[in-house]
Formats: sequence, C-alpha cells, structure tokens
Amino acid sequence: MTPAMVRDRIFRAAPTVAVIVGAALAMDFLYNVVVMRRPDAFTPLTIFIIASIAGPLSFWLTDQKIRLERMHADLSASLDATQKAKDEADRRRQEAEDALVKLSEAERLYRLLGDNLTDHVALWTPKGERLYSSPSITRITGYSADEFMALPPTAMVSDADFKRVQGVIGRLTPGGPPASADYECFRKDGSAIWLESSYSRLGDGSGILLVTSRDITERKQLEMDIAKALEMAEAASAAKSDFLANMTHELRTPLTAILGFAEVLRRSRGLTRTAARQIGHILDASNTLLSVVNDVLDFSRLEAGGLELDPGPFDPAAMASSCAALVQERATAKGLKVVVRAAKGLAPMNLDGPRLSQVLLNFLSNAVKFTAHGTITVALGQVVEGDQAVLRGEVVDTGIGIAPEHREAIFDRFSQADAAVSRRFGGTGLGLAISRRIIERMEGRIGVDSIEGQGSTFWFEVRGPLADLPAPEAEDAPPLNADAGVRLLLVEDNAVNRELIRTMLEPFGIGVETAHDGVAGVEAMRQGQYDLVLMDVQMPVMDGLTATREIRAMEGARGVATPIVAMTANVLPEQIATCLAAGMDDHLGKPINPTKLLEAVARWSGRAHAA
Ligand code: ADP
Repeated sequence: MTPAMVRDRIFRAAPTVAVIVGAALAMDFLYNVVVMRRPDAFTPLTIFIIASIAGPLSFWLTDQKIRLERMHADLSASLDATQKAKDEADRRRQEAEDALVKLSEAERLYRLLGDNLTDHVALWTPKGERLYSSPSITRITGYSADEFMALPPTAMVSDADFKRVQGVIGRLTPGGPPASADYECFRKDGSAIWLESSYSRLGDGSGILLVTSRDITERKQLEMDIAKALEMAEAASAAKSDFLANMTHELRTPLTAILGFAEVLRRSRGLTRTAARQIGHILDASNTLLSVVNDVLDFSRLEAGGLELDPGPFDPAAMASSCAALVQERATAKGLKVVVRAAKGLAPMNLDGPRLSQVLLNFLSNAVKFTAHGTITVALGQVVEGDQAVLRGEVVDTGIGIAPEHREAIFDRFSQADAAVSRRFGGTGLGLAISRRIIERMEGRIGVDSIEGQGSTFWFEVRGPLADLPAPEAEDAPPLNADAGVRLLLVEDNAVNRELIRTMLEPFGIGVETAHDGVAGVEAMRQGQYDLVLMDVQMPVMDGLTATREIRAMEGARGVATPIVAMTANVLPEQIATCLAAGMDDHLGKPINPTKLLEAVARWSGRAHAA
C-alpha cells in the first residue's frame, strides 16, 4: 500500500473512530456520573484503549470497503463491457440472419427463374466445358440438365452448324457485344428443332461464355412456309407468263393469215370502193388486235422481271422522226398535224433505242387517240454533262387532257383515266404501265403535265453515256429482181400460212416450194437446190430448230450453206437467239409483214455462204 493510500484510508476511517470514541465517552459519562452518581467509575482510559483498538479496526474495515467498492466498480465495468459485447454480437447475428434471409430469397428467385425460363441459359468455361445449364433444357431438348451437362458439345448439332457456331464464338471479345446464330438442333427423341442462340463472353476476367438459346422452330417454319409460298407464287407467275407467251403465240398465228390475206387483197387490183374500205377496216382492226397481243406479251415479260436492256449507240433525232412517221398516217386521217422539234446538235447516246422508241411511240399513239384537232408535237432536248447526257423526250397534244386525280394511276397496269374514256377510245391500259417500267429500268423519270380539256404533255428523262454512231451499213437490201428466178423452200405446217406466203411471193416471180414439217423440209433440201429457206419453228414431227441443225450438218459435207430465215410467232429475244444458235441466218416475226418478207427474201436469196 502506498503512503497516499494509507493517508486516504486514515482520513476515511478517522470520523468513524472519532464517533466510536465520542459515543463510548458519552455513554460512560452518562451511565456512571449522571445515572449511577459514581464519578469514580468513569474511566476515559478504557475508552482510549477502545479507541486504540477501534482505530486500526476501522482503518482495516475502510480499506476493505474501498477494495470492495473498487471490485464492485470493476465488476460493473466488466458487466457493462459484457453487455455491450453481447449487444454487438446480437446485432451482428441479426444482420447475418437478415442477410441469410435475403440470400435465400434471392436464391429462391434465381431458382424460380432458372426453373421457369423458357429460354435456356448455359455457362461454359473458356476451355469449352459446361459449367451450368438451366433446367429449361429439358423442355427444349428432352435431355435433363444433368444429361445435358455430360453430352459432348457436338451431340445435338450437325458438323457444319457446329463449325459455323464455333466461328461465331471465336470472334467474341470479353465484355464485348453478343453475337447470335440460328441452327438446327436434334432433340433426345431424334426430332429436329430450330434454336436461336446468343453468345457473349463475360467481361469479369473469367472468360466464361454465356449462351442463351430459344426455340424458334415455329418462326422458322413460318419463314420456310413463306419462302415456299413465294416459290409457289413465282412458279405460278412463271406459269402465267408461259401461258401468256403461248396465248400470244396462238393469237399471232391466225392473225398472220388475217393480216396477210387482207394485205394481199388490199394490194390486188379491181377492188370496188366498198370492198377496199372494208378491207381497210379488217387491216385496222387486225393491227389493233396485234398491238394488244404485243402489249400483253410485253407486259407479262416485264412483270416477270424479264426486261433485259440492250444498250447500243442510237440517234435520238432519228428516233423522234421515225416514231412520228409511224403515226403520221393515222394523225392525218384525223386532221392532226405532227411536228418534230429536236434541239440542235442532239448527240447520239448509248441507250436501248428500240425500248425508248416504244415509249415515245406509245405517247404518240395516245396523243393521236385522245386528240380531236390541233397539233401533236414531239420535242427532244439534251443536257450534256461530261461524257454523259440527260435526254428529255416530250409529246405535247391538244387533246382531252387528264384530270389531276387520274394522272398517277394511268401509269399503273390496266388503268385508264375513267371508264367513259376507255369505252369511247378503247385500249388495254397497258401502254403507259409498260412505258413506266421501261423508263424505270433505265433509272429515268416519266410523267405527265396536263390541263383538262386543253391537252397533255407526256415526258421522260433518261441519263446515258454519249456515243459515236457506227458508220451506216454500206450494204442495203438489193431490190428484188423478179426475173432472177428465186427458188424458195417454205417449211411450214399451217396450210393457210403456206398459201399466204405463196400468194404474197409468187406475184414477184419467186418460186415457192413447200414442206409441211421439219422432216419433209430436210428431205426437200437433200433433193433440191434452193436460194433461201423460210423455216417455221413450232411444227409437229420435227421442229424448225432440229430441221435447221440437220440441214446445216448435211451441208457441212457439201461446203455451201443456204440462207435459212426463221418465220415464227416466237418473238421473244431469247427465242430469236435460239433460232440463230441453231444455224439460222435471220428472223421474221409472225404475223408476217409483207414488206419485211419481201425485204428478207431480197436480202438473203442468192447469199449462200460457206457451211
Ligand atoms: P390505253 O391507251 O391502251 O388505254 P395507256 O396505258 O396507254 O393505255 O393509257 C392509259 C390511260 O391514260 C388511257 O386510257 C387514257 O385514259 C389516259 N391517257 C393516256 N394518254 C393520254 C393523252 N395523251 N390524253 C389524254 N389521256 C391520256
């Protein structure tokens, strides 16, 4: 014990000692002196003896009290600390319990999600081993998640698809955008389904591959159904085109006889006026019918996407004049003037001239049809830009005009401004639709400006490269020499057509011998000598293409080939090309135009060439 502690205890014990001594003195005095009246029995010494015992005792007791107090304080402090530690432990336990509840809730939700996902989720290690598969794999493939985890990666896909998907995965970057692939997947029961999978590499440094897959069989089936329906629609459209081509062929054949004999009759002498007028009507009607047949055939080819442009150098000014010349007769008959206004120095261009002429001619025919009096003007202008130019063609009429609401629709197929107009003027409503497709195919523009009752301006604009015109062919068809005694073999199965050609050619001193099919034609060529062969293509027993090939093979031995001109209602470019490829020299489309027939005979007769 330190002196300070001793001092402390003395100070704290002193009052107690003083009280004990004082009380003993007072009791002794009161009892012996006041009550018993024996002052001699009053003994302060005894008191001092008591005091000397009470002092140390009191000191000791005080010390014990102090110790007990300190122990009590220590105990209280320790109890406080224990309580605090317990509170802290309770708080931590509560927190842990809360976290556990949250965790198990999250886990429950994840499991719920995993169990009820319709999509499949899988995780793969960077080495290509499976890490996790959601239970939805069973619904999709029929394999349990455990079975799936044990399957080799190639088990459910074809080798080709596996390689393709590996390629997709190989291009992924960690944390980068996902990539996806469709592929056919074979289920546990062997049936095939389509899956669409999305692949992504986790960007957390683990390199884990996350794959989510979904069953897209229904969608794929729908896509395949649509593709099939499209294929069928295309096949139907091709069948329609074939049908139209056949129909037009069948229509052309009788038209050949009608037009041909009407033309023969028109040229014959000694007709009465009435007969001549009636023959004129037959010719007009047949020509109209022919142009309708041509339009339908043309349009069916355009619809089928079969318009192949054939660009070549052409002279726009010459095109305008020849188109104007073609409608001149009809215009004059209606009292209309046709004027061509071509800008000075129009440069030749590299474009499909015949197709542009078709558009211009359609504008002109309509202008004549829908104009009662006045003038029809063909105007051509050109803007040259470097080695290119934009050509603008216009046909301006002073006719009935077109109401604003009809101006767009008349460029649609079978569309006419209104029913009354079509009844009054006739027509198929195909001409402008064909024209629009031609111009659009040339990446140009087509349109109409019009004031009702005053007239219309139909126009087109096309861009194309400037071109040099080739030098005109020196060799013109020589005039037909009736005395030359041309011997012609006509191979044609249709008796009416045989008679027609004979009637057309014999007045010009041409000797026409006939054969009614390919076999007879080849035989005739074997037996006789001819200056020219006119060969139909579609014939029974042997067609014209086969007959031509046989004739060419036969001639190969002789070294001299007789010109063969196809004479057929097959007028499509590819059909013409087939004729030439079979060994023919030229092509005449049916119905036969008498002038063109005579030109062809004049051009080819006597032009035997090396076989
Ligand atoms: P079609 O003349 O055979 O009926 P088109 O396609 O050439 O077919 O023309 C469609 C319609 O456009 C015509 O029926 C007519 O109503 C209108 N049309 C065309 N050209 C003219 C024109 N120059 N003036 C007035 N209307 C026209």
